[in-house]
Amino acid sequence: MSLEDHAEELASSLGVDKTEVKQKLENLDQYGVPIDEAKQTVRRNYDESDSGSPEEVSTKSIAEITTGDSRVGVDVRILSVGKRSIQYNGEQHVIFEGEMADESGKISYTSWEDFDLETGETVHLGNIDIREWEGNPELNLGDSTSVERLSETLDVEYDVGGDATLASLEPGDRGVNLDVQVLETEQKTINGRDGETEILSGVVGDETGRLPFTDWGPREALSVGNSVRLEDVFIREFRGVPSVNVSEFTTVAVLDSTVEVADSGTRYPIGDAVDTGGMFDLELTGNVVAVRDGSGLIERCPECGRVIQSGQCRTHGEVEGEDDLRVKAILDDGTGTVTVVLDEVLTAEVYDGDLDDARDHARDAMDREVVAKEIRENIVGQEFRVRGTLTVDDYGANLEASEFTRRVEDPQDRAKRLLTEVKP
Ligand SMILES: [Zn+2]
Repeated sequence: MSLEDHAEELASSLGVDKTEVKQKLENLDQYGVPIDEAKQTVRRNYDESDSGSPEEVSTKSIAEITTGDSRVGVDVRILSVGKRSIQYNGEQHVIFEGEMADESGKISYTSWEDFDLETGETVHLGNIDIREWEGNPELNLGDSTSVERLSETLDVEYDVGGDATLASLEPGDRGVNLDVQVLETEQKTINGRDGETEILSGVVGDETGRLPFTDWGPREALSVGNSVRLEDVFIREFRGVPSVNVSEFTTVAVLDSTVEVADSGTRYPIGDAVDTGGMFDLELTGNVVAVRDGSGLIERCPECGRVIQSGQCRTHGEVEGEDDLRVKAILDDGTGTVTVVLDEVLTAEVYDGDLDDARDHARDAMDREVVAKEIRENIVGQEFRVRGTLTVDDYGANLEASEFTRRVEDPQDRAKRLLTEVKP
């Protein structure tokens, strides 16, 4: 775009005379001010001198912003700045994302322009679009947005800088910094937009938990045993749990000290675990309060593996079902419930018999349900320690178990508990 075009666009968006705007832009251009910055300066100029005009948007506090707003201004502190390359309308764009806050709350933002926003600084942003993202308002900064650095620092109750722990992450988080230890890695070749690409995937851990990660440009620093600081990662959902994405803009630094990782899945109250929206490799303890239908000796579609009823797959119609063992047990610890899913091996343990035993059992009784019934008798009302990966979605909270062990109470603890229970 020529300076003339820029002047035209800006003048029409401001509703003012083009000649004057062009003159101001030319002036700034002579001083070597980049065109985008020059446009912002001129815009601010008009905004300030013309505060009564209908073009002016009102400054709101973050708590006041709703998805019904179209444009607002805010005074905010920048909590985090993440940089990411995305495909938009067939073109590659570099965007900036993160969170900002004021005294009333915090909000996510996406910036389509590079305003040089820095973590920790306090700014006035004028003329921001409001977008809705998963039901919440989000700030959308574009070329009509003005940025003004403020000298006072806003006091906010949030951590500035984007440092986080693995347990606190949710899909959609951006501009995040993590200190983690690399626990597992696997080199993969995928067929992406630009042909075959090498990526690195694996698992990272810290004191609060473990999560899968993907490095889109494999880095040597991410090798097993290394403790690293990752700056500017973004979080996506991968098979129901948050996944750490290391992008081309992420900086990776190997740390001298070791980031401690709990050696087994981190233990959580069920309610807290469900609130995180999904977690990788965690540990829960609770009582099995019920064994759900669809447990015991079940049949799966040979094509898609889904559980079928009466030889009918919802996708593949009538099929020759394949027998399998599964348990869907409801685990409760008083803070919440999850459905624990046991595979064939773990089911065989709680059933105390394998697939052949289950088939014989069902044939003798002429009822497949006897298997589930026996499992129910074996585990309902008892306390278990479960390790696995938790997903939370429209189907509820499900934990794919990798370990399922009966908790044997220490006799002394048991005596103490019984004593307190009988006290009036
Ligand atoms: Zn099927």
